[in-house]
Amino acid sequence: MEKLLNTVSLTRQLLNFNTINPLSNEDECARYLGKILEESGFTIDYYDFARGRTSLVAKIEGRGDGLPLCFTGHIDTVPLGALPWEKDPFKGEIEGDKMFGRGSSDMKSGIAAMVIAALRMAGERDRKAGITLVINAGEETGCEGSKYMAELGNALGEAGAIVITEPTSNYPLVAHKGAVWLEAIIRGVTAHGSMPEEGVNAINKSALIIDKLANYKFNGQNQHPILGEPTLNIGTISGGLNINSVPDLVSMEVDIRSIPGQRGQEVIDELKLFLGSDVELKTILNLDGVSTPLDNDWVQKVFVIMEQYLKQKIVPKGVNFFTDGSVLTSAYGYPPTLILGPGEAEMAHKTDEYCYVSKMKEITDVYTDIALQWLK
Ligand SMILES: [Zn+2]
Repeated sequence: MEKLLNTVSLTRQLLNFNTINPLSNEDECARYLGKILEESGFTIDYYDFARGRTSLVAKIEGRGDGLPLCFTGHIDTVPLGALPWEKDPFKGEIEGDKMFGRGSSDMKSGIAAMVIAALRMAGERDRKAGITLVINAGEETGCEGSKYMAELGNALGEAGAIVITEPTSNYPLVAHKGAVWLEAIIRGVTAHGSMPEEGVNAINKSALIIDKLANYKFNGQNQHPILGEPTLNIGTISGGLNINSVPDLVSMEVDIRSIPGQRGQEVIDELKLFLGSDVELKTILNLDGVSTPLDNDWVQKVFVIMEQYLKQKIVPKGVNFFTDGSVLTSAYGYPPTLILGPGEAEMAHKTDEYCYVSKMKEITDVYTDIALQWLK
């Protein structure tokens, strides 16, 4: 199979599948990958968190008793957006060093590279440990696929280290933030607009709440050495019935990006206390951040590999966006975790998204070296 497939051709194949979340399904794309891996000796299990929303776990055993190395990524993409594309989002057209398509950077190139590296490992006779690929559906809407598998208990197996192949321009990152998404509901009492004294205006109440939120200071030790401080953003607001009524309801969506070490539930409890009983908080999403100690042996070994490729000293860096690592790192009992993939984070979710072909090729060799080092 590998004679026919390489990371560039496989990325293009994956771009051909429309996996726009939530309008399209991942099942065909997942089964296409499962078939390729199965033909090379991997055991495949499919998990649908909803109809057609298919994730898969591909495992190949080693001969020793070491824990497997896990590579993970997602096959869903965000929608195309309102602006027209100049390139076909599903064709994988190449121009110079760029391959265009929705999901080229985020993150079908990363999926393709980890699959090609895994196929190479399947041919390694002297594997002392196994390889596990966790290929997720529904990441963009809050890690739905990985959460479903983690909750099943036995779907994911074990992992001694995790590589999340999300877009990092081939730079290894050791941390990312978590996310707490909340709906804040503020209630009032409706009345005729000509007699506002008869009602309680929920919009007026919410103005005070917005002011409190805009000046909110998180409790406790809230400085991460790499990621800095947690943030809070009010993303949406809606309220009111019509011009001549006193509004009795306002709803806001609040996006908190927590730092590793802050637990989502604690963040929610603190905010509840701060806002008081005038605000109802409903949790939409609760994902913890990820952070791996720099002195970890495996992280240091990967840094040595990366320094050879990138020809520069690797310094500790992280990103603000969340990944399936929020779910998988805790599900696997907090093994060392790196985020490392060929896509460009700046291209994620953009019109005419692209990925560099040279980086796809390079990262395939990087993953191969990381896997060989783990399996020997
Ligand atoms: Zn992504």
